[in-house]
Amino acid sequence: MALKLEPGTRLVVATHNPGKARELAEILENRFVLVTAGELGLAEPDETETTFVGNALLKARAAAEASGLPALADDSGLSVAALDGAPGIYSARWAGPGRDFTNAMKKVEERLEEAGAAGDLAAWFTCALALAWPGGPAVVVEGRVDGTLAFPPRGGRGFGYDPIFVPEGGAATFGEMAPAEKDAMSHRARAFAKLKAALL
Ligand code: IMP
Repeated sequence: MALKLEPGTRLVVATHNPGKARELAEILENRFVLVTAGELGLAEPDETETTFVGNALLKARAAAEASGLPALADDSGLSVAALDGAPGIYSARWAGPGRDFTNAMKKVEERLEEAGAAGDLAAWFTCALALAWPGGPAVVVEGRVDGTLAFPPRGGRGFGYDPIFVPEGGAATFGEMAPAEKDAMSHRARAFAKLKAALL
């Protein structure tokens, strides 16, 4: 079976965040009619898998089955080598219900100190994207960007852990970069490039 999407296909984006859906529409060059899981009133499943790919697939499959349409979902996060990949799939959860990333970034620094690894700053961001057809197959891809952590946090741009991440080969944190500069090299951009190559 050819896992291609015809232009004009209705596609569910398994997010309740309208901003994310807009960003996806642009990346997919507005070839598809995007509807969000939120617009369809679909429930958000618990992220019970242990990998980025597993959680992206779980969310895409849940939305595809509930809507009867192909569905796209993502899962992403920051992994720190000296913390055995933490916070990883728990990146959002480390910020707590108040989504306090100042606190989450402090937690990363504290955990490194507790582990006696304050100088061991290798880290990477991962983004998994899954596109699932109802009752059928799925395409899953993963993008990654390697770098090092920087403390204290720097830069007021971006979101999440951006102010403590310096991508390989640079000196600025993602939080200090212009959005276009980050988008040119981010884990999300790399994952989308792979997905586009697989689908379009
Ligand atoms: P998700 O929405 O469950 O995939 O959670 C992803 C979490 O990982 C976000 O809440 C951020 O904390 C973190 N994250 C993912 N991508 C980025 C990024 O590009 N910059 C900073 N933080 C990120």
